[in-house]
Amino acid sequence: MNIEVSKSFNIKKDIISFIADYKEKLTELFNERNDEDQLLTNRGLPPYILREVLECNPLSTFIPAEYNGRGAVTSEALSMLEASSYQSLPLSLMMGINGALFLQPLANYGSEEAKRNVFEQFIKKKNMGGLMITEPDYGSDALKMQTGFSYSESTNTYKISGLKHWAGLTGWADFWLITARGFDDKGDLGRDIGFFIHDSSKGGIDVIEYYKNLGLYMLPYGRNKIEIEVPAEYRLEPTTTGVTMMLDILHRSRLQFPGMSTGHLRRMLDEAILHCKDRIVGGVNLFKYDQVRERLARLQSYFTVSSAMSYFTSVNVPLTADTSRMDVAANSIKSVVTDYMHEASQSLLQLVGAKGYRLDHIAGRSMVDSRPFQIFEGSNDILYQQISESVLKMMRKSKETNLYNFLKNYNLTENAVGYFKELLNFELDTKMKQRQLVELGKALGSIVSMEMTIRLGEKGFNSDMILNSLKVIRSEITSSLSTFSSNESPDVIDEYEDGSSWIQFIRA
Ligand SMILES: Cc1cc2nc3c(=O)[nH]c(=O)nc-3n(C[C@H](O)[C@H](O)[C@H](O)COP(=O)(O)OP(=O)(O)OC[C@H]3O[C@@H](n4cnc5c(N)ncnc54)[C@H](O)[C@@H]3O)c2cc1C
Repeated sequence: MNIEVSKSFNIKKDIISFIADYKEKLTELFNERNDEDQLLTNRGLPPYILREVLECNPLSTFIPAEYNGRGAVTSEALSMLEASSYQSLPLSLMMGINGALFLQPLANYGSEEAKRNVFEQFIKKKNMGGLMITEPDYGSDALKMQTGFSYSESTNTYKISGLKHWAGLTGWADFWLITARGFDDKGDLGRDIGFFIHDSSKGGIDVIEYYKNLGLYMLPYGRNKIEIEVPAEYRLEPTTTGVTMMLDILHRSRLQFPGMSTGHLRRMLDEAILHCKDRIVGGVNLFKYDQVRERLARLQSYFTVSSAMSYFTSVNVPLTADTSRMDVAANSIKSVVTDYMHEASQSLLQLVGAKGYRLDHIAGRSMVDSRPFQIFEGSNDILYQQISESVLKMMRKSKETNLYNFLKNYNLTENAVGYFKELLNFELDTKMKQRQLVELGKALGSIVSMEMTIRLGEKGFNSDMILNSLKVIRSEITSSLSTFSSNESPDVIDEYEDGSSWIQFIRA
């Protein structure tokens, strides 16, 4: 969608006033000129709202300065995502898709021509872009995708054909990053993955079906038939292999989830506190009940840990950093913080009670809107397993078999692990069941998150909030480690129908 800009939002202003002006515009659009609840229960977004949001140039935070962006400074992009998600989680996801799944891959791996042309369209015409990886038969095992590409020397172009689904901004994006596999000499699909930038106005991407997505109503999803031709300069150029480039793209994106989560978690916290101070039950406000205070403390902890992750990513992940080997940090951040996002939404709904169980209430809406964050960009079940596998691999390499000893010398856990010496002081069995790998991964992901929280505390973040969140996270880690070491191993009973109807025992 090309949007001609009536007035240019000054992208050169300092980041504090840039974000302040952006927030003011969001408040005006979502709360003053429109009813937020009604707006977010309708599918899509009225074009004038999208236009006015994009006129604030939020996406310029992802674009390097030499292409007239704000310089692609990580902390700026995360601040913009945080401001967006405080107002609207789907809006923040829309910005996150554009930034982490399109603009940043282009900035790091695009040809000069592609960058000059595409960045200009984003700055001047407020274009948008998304990423297509997932296929109906290949989601978690995306490396087996069936979309194929072949090169034609005569035209210096790539022909790409296949079927993709669930790409955010389906039918809306002006540009797509399409992933596909090449063919080997025998005509079979090869192992490496290619990334191609396609201009939607050239045709060849047909939306066969729009999905009725359960939440995130603002964003269109669906199934697309791909039959496109892309000039050779519009193929991303990996430093080594396409798979490593894909890892860098996905890890960088996962590392930036705290941009979206911090604003969402702060909103859940603010809504919960507001409600609990106002709602009288049994003659006192909810805020006075101990169980309610426990929930609120947990929400505050989630917000604090997510802030610590934002700080970590801002300091450690400039656009130029190669993140392809940052698997433990990326997978810990993404899985832990998206579990928090959904848990926080569930907790707000519990506190608000029946009033929250409405599609047009922030609590009910957040519950469905936050859920897919645990599924996309790596299902959390799989990511937790991968965290354990990464740690086991490093332990094997360093010939260390004691988990505590390893984590004590690992920079993502070195301070936090001190609290768990007794629980972690054991020789790790390398042949664990998958469920144990997942449970251990949960504990490890939380220890990594705790380390980030300790470091934010050292920088001077509100010490009461840091102390409280360390208490919350310590109890989470203890609980995961106790499940991990428990010997209970329930298994699913196949063909369970036999003898499993309680009514038969009444008749007997
Ligand atoms: C709202 C939303 C937005 C999305 N946005 C995009 C996008 O912009 N671009 C894009 O390309 N895709 C996108 N996706 C697709 C998303 O990345 C996939 O849904 C995801 O990769 C999982 O694939 P799948 O749905 O096919 O599930 P499957 O691969 O079938 O997995 C389903 C579940 O099976 C279990 N499972 C799978 N493998 C294993 C295993 N090895 N071990 C244990 N358990 C396992 C897990 O519980 C997993 O959650 C989006 C999806 C949603 C819902």
